[in-house]
Amino acid sequence: MVHKRAPVLRLKRGRDQRARTHPWIFKGDVADVSDVAGGSAVTVLDGGGRFVGRGLFNSQPALCCRILTWQDEAIDATFLRRRLEAAVARRVKGGSVPDVGRLVWSEADALPGLVVDRYGPVIVIQCLTLGMSRLRGALIAGLRSRLGDLPVLSMDDAVVARLEGFEPLARWADRPGPDEVVIDEEGARFAVRPGAGHKTGLYLDQADNRRHVAAVAAGGDVLDVFAYAGGFACHALLAGSRRAVCVESSPEAVAATRRNLELNGLAGRIEIRPVNAFDELRRLDRERERFDLIVLDPPPFARGRAALAAALRGYKEINLRALRLLAPGGLLATFSCSHHVDETTFRATCRDAAIDAGVRLRIRAGLGQAPDHPVLLTVPETGYLKGLLLAAQ
Ligand code: SAH
Repeated sequence: MVHKRAPVLRLKRGRDQRARTHPWIFKGDVADVSDVAGGSAVTVLDGGGRFVGRGLFNSQPALCCRILTWQDEAIDATFLRRRLEAAVARRVKGGSVPDVGRLVWSEADALPGLVVDRYGPVIVIQCLTLGMSRLRGALIAGLRSRLGDLPVLSMDDAVVARLEGFEPLARWADRPGPDEVVIDEEGARFAVRPGAGHKTGLYLDQADNRRHVAAVAAGGDVLDVFAYAGGFACHALLAGSRRAVCVESSPEAVAATRRNLELNGLAGRIEIRPVNAFDELRRLDRERERFDLIVLDPPPFARGRAALAAALRGYKEINLRALRLLAPGGLLATFSCSHHVDETTFRATCRDAAIDAGVRLRIRAGLGQAPDHPVLLTVPETGYLKGLLLAAQ
C-alpha cells in the first residue's frame, strides 16, 4: 500500500525496469516528483503508478534519488539498524566482527551513500549523499548498538558533499577518539591517524592484494610505486623480499610510511623517494635499475569519462616504464581504481604496454577489491578496483 500523502517520485514510462534492480534514478528518468526538502524519503512509482521502491531524494545532483528499499517500508531508525546489522553480519568471521576493514560499502550493502570503516577501536563514517548526511545521528546510534560504544569519526568527501549540497563533516561525533591507532594487517603493523591521510585512513580495498602479492614474490628487490603508506613494500619485506624502494609524492603519506617502517622494524631496508612517479620511473630506467617485484597502484587517473583517453595514456606509460624495469622472471602487480576504466580496457592497456616493451607476460592472477568491498552484479558501479599480477616470461 502506498500512503497517499507520502512524497512521490514518478518515473517516466519504460524507466522502471532498471530501477527494480539498480538504485540510481537520474533526473532524466523522472516524470514528476512531489515538492520535498532535499534529502527526504520519496516513494518511487513506475509510469503506471505502481510501487517500485523507496529512496532518498535530492533535487541538486543529476543522480537525484537512490532507492534504499524495494519493499513498502519506512526508512527510519529501525530500518537503518536492520541494514547496518545485515552489513556487519556479512563480514563476521569466526563469530566476531573484523577488527579492521570496511563494514558498509554503500550500494553493495543496500545503504547507498554510506561508507563505514573500522580501525580497531575507531569507527569512521562517510556520508556521500544529502539524505544519508541527514540520517547521520540514527546511523551512528545503529552502529554503536551493534559494535559497542566506540568513538565515531565523520570524514565526508568534500567534493561529493559540494555536489550534493551539504556541509562535509570532519569531526568526532561526541567524544574524541585516539590520535593514532596501530592496526595489525596479517602480521604487518600500520599506523592510522583518524582524520588525517587518504580515504578513511588506509586503502582497505587493497588489504588482500598486499598479502597475496607479498606471498608470491620470492625474495628480491621491490619497487612500490604510488606507495601511500608503504603497505605493499612492508608486506613484501616481511614475507622475505630483500629491499624496497617506495615512490610517493604526498608528504603526509611519506610521513606515514616512515612511521610504518619503524613499527615493522624495516627502516634500514626501505628507501623512500618522495617524488613524482612518472619522473622516477623514467630516471630508474636511465639508471638501468632492475626489480623483481614492481607494484603500480596509481590514484584514479580518469575522474570522469571525458578524461578517459588521457587516463589510458597515463596507465600505458607507467606500465610500459615498469615493464622495462622488471628483472627477468619478475612480477608486476598493476592496478586501476578508475570507475571509468573497465576490466577489458585495463587489460588491453597493459597488453599494449607489454607489446611496446617487448615483454611476454603470463597472468598469475586477476586481482580485485577486498571482499569487504562487495560487488553487485546488477550495480556494476560497486566494482572499481581491478588489477593483474603478471609474470615476465
Ligand atoms: N598502494 C597503496 C595505495 C596507493 S593510493 C596502499 O596499498 O596503501 C595512490 C597513491 O599515489 C597516493 O598515496 C597518492 O598520494 C600517490 N600519488 C598520486 N600521484 C602521484 C604521483 N604523480 N607520483 C607519486 N605518487 C603519487
